[in-house]
Amino acid sequence: MIDVFIKRINRGEGKELILFSKKKLNYKVFEGLPPVSGNQTHLRFHPTRSEWVGYSTTRQNRTFLPNTMECPLCPMTNDKELSDIPVDQYEVAIFTNRFSSLQLHDSKIPSLELETNQATGTCDVVSYSSNHQDQFSNLPQERIELIIHALSNRTHELLENPNIKYILPFENKGKEIGVTLDHPHGQIYSFGHIPEIIKRQSIAQQGKPLENYLSKIPEELILKKNSTGICFVPRWARYPFEIWIVPYRRVPDIYSLSDDEKKDLAELMHDASKRLDGVFDTPMPYTLAWQLSPRGYEDSHHFHLCFQPIRRSKTKLKYLAGVEQITGFFLVDLPPERSACILRGEEQPDE
Ligand SMILES: [Zn+2]
Repeated sequence: MIDVFIKRINRGEGKELILFSKKKLNYKVFEGLPPVSGNQTHLRFHPTRSEWVGYSTTRQNRTFLPNTMECPLCPMTNDKELSDIPVDQYEVAIFTNRFSSLQLHDSKIPSLELETNQATGTCDVVSYSSNHQDQFSNLPQERIELIIHALSNRTHELLENPNIKYILPFENKGKEIGVTLDHPHGQIYSFGHIPEIIKRQSIAQQGKPLENYLSKIPEELILKKNSTGICFVPRWARYPFEIWIVPYRRVPDIYSLSDDEKKDLAELMHDASKRLDGVFDTPMPYTLAWQLSPRGYEDSHHFHLCFQPIRRSKTKLKYLAGVEQITGFFLVDLPPERSACILRGEEQPDE
């Protein structure tokens, strides 16, 4: 188990910077990037999908693939190169996104002929490292453990706000998936409502708990296991090389894991991310979801992690096209059983 030191810095207008480290650091604090003002957000109700769509006025202006000198996640060395993490050094940092699509204060909502609402919530950025060149897959296991502690701490704190109904920590990895910053980072979206798909997933687990499946996973689909959980390719994978990590013990969120379990989870994540980059010997673009319980489903929800990669061969990406986008019905070219063989190093992938 690691020690975790926490330093909080108020960045004005209700925005916070929280720094997490394994050893005590003495930070030199700079002024940093100023807050973005005038961001107006709201929700509109989609009449046929029966779900909310979010609108935000400043997201189009957000930073897009800056060079290292202008990276808002790199630490600061002087007063000129401004950063969102305005300190001279750090290990893991979480801060409120200046271009947040969800906001804890009320916005002006346009008067429309359909149902609208406040886009209640908040968006955080999670920087995994002060080194711009790092990637999740080459971080030492101890750093992944620190990231888990940081997410545990922050998500638990966010849930203390009764207006937050659901929290999604996630990572978009790779330009292929639309990442706008190279610096290794994830995000946390805290919602004032429970998105429909998330509600459906939690309701499904009330009827059929995930534990039912865990005991039946055959050896050939398992990538790694330890005393806390199991890392495997699910039989129901919708993406090529999809990987799930599930603790054996049903807990609703990261915070409910013991320190030893967090350490074991880091071991499984470290292994999974290395296997993904190993498939084509190049960084694998993916989305990673930390599936926490929405508010009200804590008694049945089983916390787990899903890596959803989008590279299906050395030269081809899986795009969500007509059928997937319109119906949510996935068509899969690569059987999960073969994905598992390739991820286990027993077979070579297609060129
Ligand atoms: Zn950077």
